[in-house]
Amino acid sequence: MAAWPWKSLARSRQPTDGGDSAAPGKLSLSLSELFVVGTWFGVATGLLELGGTLAAVKLMGRVTYDTLRTNWHYFWMTPLSNLVLFSVSALVLCVATARIPRLRTGRVVFFLYAYLTAWSLVSAIPTLHKTAEVVLAIGLACVTTKFLTKRRSTFLRIAPRAAILGAGLILAIAGVDVYSTNRPVDRGPSVASVAAVGPPNVVLIVLDTVRADSLTPYGAERDTTPNLARLAREGVLFKHARSTAPWTLPSHASLFTGRWPFELSADVGRPLDSAFPTLAEQLADRGYATGGFVANTQNCNAWYGLDRGFDHYEDFYENATVTPIEVLRSSRLGRYVVTSKLAQAVIKRAAAPVDFRYRKTAGMINRDALAWLSDKGDQPFFMFLNYFDVHDPYQPPKEAERRFTKAGGEAQSAANLARDAYDDCLVYLDSQIGRLLAELESRGKLQNTLVIVTSDHGEGFGEHGLAGHGVSLYRSELHIPLMLVHPTRTPAGTVVSEPVSLRDVAPTILDLLDLGTAPTFAGKSLANTWSASAADRDFSEPVLSEVDRADHVPAEVEDAPARRGRMRSITANGRTYILNGDGREELYDLHDDPEESNDLADLADAQEHLHQLRELMEQVTGVQENGE
Ligand SMILES: [Zn+2]
Repeated sequence: MAAWPWKSLARSRQPTDGGDSAAPGKLSLSLSELFVVGTWFGVATGLLELGGTLAAVKLMGRVTYDTLRTNWHYFWMTPLSNLVLFSVSALVLCVATARIPRLRTGRVVFFLYAYLTAWSLVSAIPTLHKTAEVVLAIGLACVTTKFLTKRRSTFLRIAPRAAILGAGLILAIAGVDVYSTNRPVDRGPSVASVAAVGPPNVVLIVLDTVRADSLTPYGAERDTTPNLARLAREGVLFKHARSTAPWTLPSHASLFTGRWPFELSADVGRPLDSAFPTLAEQLADRGYATGGFVANTQNCNAWYGLDRGFDHYEDFYENATVTPIEVLRSSRLGRYVVTSKLAQAVIKRAAAPVDFRYRKTAGMINRDALAWLSDKGDQPFFMFLNYFDVHDPYQPPKEAERRFTKAGGEAQSAANLARDAYDDCLVYLDSQIGRLLAELESRGKLQNTLVIVTSDHGEGFGEHGLAGHGVSLYRSELHIPLMLVHPTRTPAGTVVSEPVSLRDVAPTILDLLDLGTAPTFAGKSLANTWSASAADRDFSEPVLSEVDRADHVPAEVEDAPARRGRMRSITANGRTYILNGDGREELYDLHDDPEESNDLADLADAQEHLHQLRELMEQVTGVQENGE
């Protein structure tokens, strides 16, 4: 990295001892001074990195990839990681220079550590080029070296006390946190409580990346989800529910606030701000215990503001994990070291290879959520669960059954193989949902609980030549399951055929709980689709979807429509209208062509429908979309 200043500094002839006549920068540090300076820089770097992370998210509203990789215990792990790395490197330097004191002049040592500190900080700037990072870090290190060299004696007098105080504080916080985390928790009475009275509990289940037509209750060819089929028979199933966006963050933001994505701040690297209240806030205000348990830790986390209103939100990889490797990789420098080829080779030799792609399984989510629930007694609760088991890569846990992935099936097409694995993930997920519901029932909770099962978006398997999600607004990515089940508040065995939007789930929940509809939830209660007689039904809420992430479409999906700029779609009057980023329009008939393979936009007799839907979209979004 910083080759030239090293050479130029090392080349200059250094006195072998701290003679008074030498310039302060050329004086060598004693071994103990070298260690103390290293430790001091470790403490300083840890606190600066932690402060920088918090300031970026809390003050500037900026979330980076690094922020999302942070462990739950980051507030002490990040400082401790830096402290360990700097102290160990100081020890190594002590050994290496024990007999060559001229190599550890104040100037060299200050520069070395100041460079590492500066790199730790500037490498957090997402838009900065790697070369610019190094140049900027060298510049900052030079300034710091000059500053400290001028005040060398003062610094060396203060550094030991500051280093001991800082290190002690970090270790004390770590100790208290680990102790309180490991303490056995009182799980409360295990007897079933009298729960049929009082406001209903709410269990909101998001099956991340699950397309509706892959599920048994939606007529999937394979019986992937018998537990969901049973649940659907006990309540209301929406046949044509659509998500507001084809990727996680905006659709969850919509689900929680009852607003369209374009009204919300949430976007890649930008958290949901507090402009609109959330469902969790509304329920917490009414005395509910609110807990969120998230397996999609990357896009559905507290850093993105989705925890607002939850008094308990678990969104980190194996968040209780405290291991030396976890501590080390909690700082930017630590991640650099741990993921280096050398470190990986050492780790491999010392133990089993470490897989950093942690994945929270449905089993883990259930375990954490049920543990949280145990001490809530008769307090009504709102439990939000985001299951990530069906997201790419489609890998059910080792112990899970492989019903559809056949040994020797390599001869099949990639899309078929992916589909088999996807369906196996569904089998596992469904079995875990079955377990969760059985446990809630045995605790006497289910008889007064509103269960909502939905998804944040679907997944493409080659439709329109596309795979994955977040790349288009076709049905494969937007058609999501939606079921609402309560023993007395939803009519069993009801199927609703009207197209509905994920946006209307929050107002529906408040309506079904008899808590009224929060004025800030712009949508309408979906109860209007089944409670009124057919003639009185007045449910003509718009079903809008949107994707605006042209710069973040995965490179492998070359022809993704989302790459051409912000696109929107609206579903109404039995048709779906799509307005692409380049202005091109598409029109599909929902009933005759559910697969959306026959674009009607150019047909003369479709122009009237096109015109109506164009106007409706303009009304909903409040802007002239067609440049007229
Ligand atoms: Zn998702």
